[in-house]
Amino acid sequence: MNPINPQQPTWDAVDRALEQWLAPQDEALRAAMASADHEGLPRIAVSPAQGRLLEVLALAIGARRILEIGTLAGFSTIWLARGLAPGGSLVTLELDPERARLARTNIDRAGCGEPVEIVVGPATQSLEALGATGVPPFDLVFIDADRENCLAYLEHSIALSRPGTLIIVDNAMHRGRLIEQGTGEPSVEGVRSMMDAIRRHPRLKAAGIQTVGAKGYDGMVLVLVGDAPRAAGDPLDILLRHDAWATREVLRACSGLTDEQWHRRFEIGPGSLHDALTHAVGAMLRWADRIDGPPTELRPSIEGIARRTPAELLALLDAAESGLSASADRARARGLGTEFDVTLAGKTHRFTLGATLVHVTTHGIHHRAQCLNMLRHLSVPGISDRLPEIDPLDWQQQAEA
Ligand code: SAH
Ligand code: MG
Repeated sequence: MNPINPQQPTWDAVDRALEQWLAPQDEALRAAMASADHEGLPRIAVSPAQGRLLEVLALAIGARRILEIGTLAGFSTIWLARGLAPGGSLVTLELDPERARLARTNIDRAGCGEPVEIVVGPATQSLEALGATGVPPFDLVFIDADRENCLAYLEHSIALSRPGTLIIVDNAMHRGRLIEQGTGEPSVEGVRSMMDAIRRHPRLKAAGIQTVGAKGYDGMVLVLVGDAPRAAGDPLDILLRHDAWATREVLRACSGLTDEQWHRRFEIGPGSLHDALTHAVGAMLRWADRIDGPPTELRPSIEGIARRTPAELLALLDAAESGLSASADRARARGLGTEFDVTLAGKTHRFTLGATLVHVTTHGIHHRAQCLNMLRHLSVPGISDRLPEIDPLDWQQQAEA
């Protein structure tokens, strides 16, 4: 049914060359491959060139949590695990306990045993169980098991994703059989129904690519998960967007000040407009890091001796706003009721993600009120008598205008 392509010797040779140039295998990878042969397993693992692609993609997106469906002897698992961000973890699902055992040995020997968990059983059941335990979302999913179930795997993967998750479906071209209509064959119908579902799905953006190489002809589909549909009046969205807008308005008012006025000391809050606004923007950056949690490290505080102009703080605010909104998306995907520990001034507290986001979005209100007070005290014509109205209704009106 699949005649050997006359170009196969070229594809083999080029894949060997790619391996030498770009994807050198170490002893552990070779041993994993040899062990699969020794056990008489089918030669259906990814090639070294494809394994390297998985590693590079995982590194490119900074994957901290990877899900693999279809372990076999753990060959692709090792490449993926080597692409994990420090402190990351990988869950791989395999039906066959013998294969899972062999994979365990291979993965341990490759030195990536610690972050890798192998779950044995039918993948649909394992995926349901993962969903039920409310695990944090995965950053990257590699679907490489039976084609019959690939639509179910895709749907479960989306449920275990966050906006920005990359889902890679291997062997999706079914060596070209993808385009055969009405075969009634479960494997062909499986990939076709998955493609239909991707096209219809409002949150997905996907690319299909045909490949040739040592594995012959096939291909992959790369699926990017987009934003979750959200109600127009979502309170968290309103708070986040209003907060950044209002701080921006205050910073704009400050851009008309002299250096002396911008740094003038008051017995109010952090002590000067510069210090109060630096603190407000710095808090957005630090809370975003805290919300993401380990292995994300807290960025160093932006407060301290460095002096910034209002324009410099406006640029930092842009970065802080988009970073915080991405962290809020991740927090939503994990569940706003998820608890986590925060150490403040040497003392550890436990908060929910929801409570934290309420703190972040209302923290700015407090410091902006101090800033308006300082601006009034400065008595600068054109500024002190024309302070910005920065309540959410005002934001709404400006957004509509
Ligand atoms: N990702 C591996 C190859 C996986 S081959 C690599 O590239 O190295 C596909 C694997 O999926 C096989 O080991 C097979 O046992 C497993 N599999 C098939 N059907 C499954 C199912 N319903 N649930 C879980 N695993 C399944
Ligand atoms: Mg495969």
